Amino acid sequence: MENTNPTIFETRPVRYRVPADVRTERMADPLFGTVFTEHMAGVRYVEGKGWHDARIQPFGPIPMSPATAALHYGQEIFEGLKAYRTPDGSAQLFRPEANARRFQNSAARLSMPELPEDIFLTALRELVAVDREWLPSAPGTSLYLRPFQIATEEYLGVRPAVEYLFGVIACPVGASFPGGEAPLTIWVSDTYTRAATGGTGAAKCAGNYAASMAAHRQARDAGCEQVVFLDAVERRYVEELGGMNLFFVFDDGTLLTPPLGGTILPGITRDSVMTLAGDAGHRVVERPYSLAEWRADAADGRLREVFACGTAAVITPVGTVRSAEGEFTISGGTAGPVTEKLRSTLTDIQYGRTADPYGWTRRLD
Ligand SMILES: *Cc1c(COP(=O)(O)O)cnc(C)c1O
Repeated sequence: MENTNPTIFETRPVRYRVPADVRTERMADPLFGTVFTEHMAGVRYVEGKGWHDARIQPFGPIPMSPATAALHYGQEIFEGLKAYRTPDGSAQLFRPEANARRFQNSAARLSMPELPEDIFLTALRELVAVDREWLPSAPGTSLYLRPFQIATEEYLGVRPAVEYLFGVIACPVGASFPGGEAPLTIWVSDTYTRAATGGTGAAKCAGNYAASMAAHRQARDAGCEQVVFLDAVERRYVEELGGMNLFFVFDDGTLLTPPLGGTILPGITRDSVMTLAGDAGHRVVERPYSLAEWRADAADGRLREVFACGTAAVITPVGTVRSAEGEFTISGGTAGPVTEKLRSTLTDIQYGRTADPYGWTRRLD
């Protein structure tokens, strides 16, 4: 019997669970994205029939034709969010509806069917429930959830596919950057851009990441951990990093972040930071900010702190900015107090260590 109700997940568990001692060993300080839980969620889509065949099944290979559309034309989108262990031993998600909505927006941009929010949320809940033992409890750790959607139709013609798979996999993670919250050294790419007006910059899609890797290689060659991209038109304005948004903190308490406008990924951490900073009494402005201004403001001391933010690394200070024209440092290359305070306020809510006045968290049990 086929399962036609996409909000009821049929569970086909693994036959043998990973023994507790082996699991503990695998979960001890895993490198980001290398250790996976025992199950995955999946829901199929066929045009005319809709979403169906929702299931939780053992984590493993997805059989597919070599002519699968996603492999050729890149109809792939994804999301990233975390399940956090709370002090009372429960689990919770942070603003998962925002991820569900962004996933729909990404789908629309890539001409893919939009997954209903309740299916997205149920898949997360069901997967965390069955793999609950993989939710780590050490400080700063979490269970990273990776929803994705791919075109599965076997067809090489160029048009939106008519068959898709939505899936969710999960990995226990520790601190994202080796060295924890040590300030980043970032490279200003003068060769590559990330997104142009009318392009896919606001969609969380595989292609954006594929295109950013050449810039990342240059950054690494220059001794930097991350790339900062400038706008594609004038090559003057700061946009964001390959997978994180940027904030600038000034001596009068103002926080500045580049405006969205289609070329910047609308980060949920970015949005949360804007709210938290505003409520903490900071003036928060979204306006274009040029590399020249950045350099000048860092030199005269008006600029006090810079940080990058995103789900994986939360809030990470930027200490040094390097480019073909040389380098400059911000606040002596160390993490500043505003960055530290925002990070602790945000993570206290995410981990349930403090009350959540915003209604952002969703308990899982
Ligand atoms: C995912 C992502 C971010 C951060 O978004 P969050 O919702 O805060 O995790 C920022 N920039 C890019 C390019 C991204 O892909």
